[in-house]
Amino acid sequence: MSDTLKVWFNGALRDLEECNVSIRSHALHYGSSVFEGVRVYRTHRGPCAFRLNDHLKRFFWSASIYRIPMKYSFEAIHEACMATVRANGYESAYLRPVAFRGDCGLGVMPGDMNVVETAIIPAEWGTYLGEGVLERGVEVCVSSWQRVAPNTIPAGAKAGGNYLSSFLIVTEAKDRGFTEGIALGADGLVSEGSGENVFVINDGRILTPPVSASILGGITRDTAIKLARKLGYELVEQSISREQLYAADEIFFTGTAVEITPVRKVDHLLIGDGTRGPVTTAVQDAFFGLFDGRTEDEWGWLEPVGSN
Ligand code: PMP
Repeated sequence: MSDTLKVWFNGALRDLEECNVSIRSHALHYGSSVFEGVRVYRTHRGPCAFRLNDHLKRFFWSASIYRIPMKYSFEAIHEACMATVRANGYESAYLRPVAFRGDCGLGVMPGDMNVVETAIIPAEWGTYLGEGVLERGVEVCVSSWQRVAPNTIPAGAKAGGNYLSSFLIVTEAKDRGFTEGIALGADGLVSEGSGENVFVINDGRILTPPVSASILGGITRDTAIKLARKLGYELVEQSISREQLYAADEIFFTGTAVEITPVRKVDHLLIGDGTRGPVTTAVQDAFFGLFDGRTEDEWGWLEPVGSN
């Protein structure tokens, strides 16, 4: 394990302390960054990045929406992610690829559209929402903050500025004594948590809001959909009302950071009997089974980090 954190920054692996950007960076003033969160798991096949290709596709797509010209090819960033894990000697990790507008003038319209900084920052992250939550579940509220409305700031792009909304949602939740908040969209229907997608189980059917519902189309969401269908569950992408949350037999969150986390209470109302339910348990088992070989990776989601 290396002593200093090694970060891939603008084309090379460097010590964290050497990675500096200008205080005039456009992204600092206007939120013009796009990023990803990717997990590397310790697996039966050695350290593997999970769905790195899919994350990087979204990364490039988010950049294109904001006309951020990527300075490195898909393949170069893919290899840089793997090299960053290896350079830090990690068996498991969380990776944060980020591309943002740097020092290109103080106007909203960048003086030079081509000034882009690119980094891959690694971290060691355990369970995001706290110890034991994968079994016990979390208590959440419905936020008084709505998610961004369609045709305002696209919720489907993973851009830095979107996280002002996430910050307000999670901060309000914490202030009110909850672990996380679920936001409704401008139409009053369920969208997502501050950093996770929502799944509701009723009478054995699994429901999740469609990607048009002011949500980020989560990679873990897609993983849960495919695994649940593989397990034989009926899974429907459809609008969900606030009261459907309260009436649910089970609810779970999906996200790279939260993985698959049960929700045990919404607005103080117990979901089911307040314990992790059978459907959540089955999807969770299938998910974690990918990393120890119990679930066959028929989709090619595990990408070995490799050796130097
Ligand atoms: N919604 C939001 C707002 C998020 O930040 C995230 C985390 N990236 C997700 C959903 C889940 O997406 P993923 O499964 O790709 O991590």
